[in-house]
Amino acid sequence: MITVMDPARARQRLGEERAHRQSLAQRLRREESDPVESSELSKIDQHPAELGTETFERELELTTLMIVEAELKDIDDAMGKLEQGTYGVCEACGKPIDPERLEAKPWARFCVADQARIEQALNRRA
Ligand SMILES: [Zn+2]
Repeated sequence: MITVMDPARARQRLGEERAHRQSLAQRLRREESDPVESSELSKIDQHPAELGTETFERELELTTLMIVEAELKDIDDAMGKLEQGTYGVCEACGKPIDPERLEAKPWARFCVADQARIEQALNRRA
């Protein structure tokens, strides 16, 4: 028997994940556009190692923001597929994606096997 993700459950999970990421992205954007005013002055007293940490944290925030925005796009795509009735099907092989996988990552586009194949291909290129 083929089990598929319940559309109502999928919609609920997508909504939760989207709300969570939207607030996270909002917070990260605010930190990016509104740096602490005194930071330029306080840097004078800081050791270079501490400045390095600050830069690293900033880069980490920007990277996180990029990942969160990409996931938000995937979530929107998944919601569109839900409306069209094509949700929960692997984009590579066309088979249903394991509901447990969709429960953990409701915007998943590929089944476990194809996801692993894609990641392997990407790692080889890097
Ligand atoms: Zn597949």
